[in-house]
Amino acid sequence: MYSITAVAQRLGLNVVRGRFRCFFSERHAHGDRTPSVSINEEKGYFKCFVCSEVKGKAVKLVELAMGISRDDAIKWLKDDSPSIIRDSQKFFLKKREKSIDKPTFFKEKMIFDFLSMLSPIPPYSAIGWWLAKRGIYKPTWDKMLLRCLDDYNLASDKLLAKYSLEDLQIGGLFNSYGKLRYGRRPLIIPYIDEKKRPFFFQARAIDKSVQPKELNFQGTIPFPYNKSALDGKPGTVYLCEGPIDTLTLLQRGFCAVGIPGANTFKPEWTELFKNKNVVLCLDNDNAGRAGEERISALLKEAGLDVRSFGLLPEGEDINSWFIRQL
Ligand SMILES: [Zn+2]
Repeated sequence: MYSITAVAQRLGLNVVRGRFRCFFSERHAHGDRTPSVSINEEKGYFKCFVCSEVKGKAVKLVELAMGISRDDAIKWLKDDSPSIIRDSQKFFLKKREKSIDKPTFFKEKMIFDFLSMLSPIPPYSAIGWWLAKRGIYKPTWDKMLLRCLDDYNLASDKLLAKYSLEDLQIGGLFNSYGKLRYGRRPLIIPYIDEKKRPFFFQARAIDKSVQPKELNFQGTIPFPYNKSALDGKPGTVYLCEGPIDTLTLLQRGFCAVGIPGANTFKPEWTELFKNKNVVLCLDNDNAGRAGEERISALLKEAGLDVRSFGLLPEGEDINSWFIRQL
């Protein structure tokens, strides 16, 4: 982690009392003569009061200031700036000692804390029945650490006791009205890594009237759902659209991973699929078919064996199809 102030100075930005002028001065009154971008050194963040997209960490700052890609920004930080790292180490040494074995970054810590506050799914509960009706049973809930946001106000209070409202908003758990997101979406599905640490999650409604039925954590999707299936060993993996379809296959003993939506597969994830034969199981609708085409091209380019599940009738997904087979 870098000292955000050191990075800004290295980029030639004029930082005065933790602030600098916005890159989009034309959007601001008087060309942003009074600087609108503030720096939170402790959290390693910068944020413009006017421009919603002008915010982030060191990499984003380099991207914006130099007008280069994310990859190039990461390279710039790594290769060309040993002095920044030196400065940063002084600053973060103390923090690192405290956070051994915990997620390193701010958002990750917040997700970790939030999910620790939630209880497992009680078997004889509305969520339990909802899952069972979809052919997904308790051993799978437990294995995948499914959680239940049954007491929204309690969770909200616990978070506010631990974090400031501003931090919760920056972290993405709270919205701009100062409320915890995910209300009326009590099924919390964490994206855990091979060590069962959560890095992302989806909140899902079980009441049909709630739209949209799913809300993803606001932030980067770090890896596909059930990443631990991508162990680099030879075998077949089923790639599904959404955690529910993935859980459906896991329950039946298939090796499956999921992406949050048909269009969310990232090119850099192809690396994770090495040595796997991939069966694409996206929904049989326009978005799903387009997604399969795109993913198939990416995986084939990486030399992988890819085919489509191919059994779903028009408009159907893996879960509805399996339920009909029961
Ligand atoms: Zn701005």
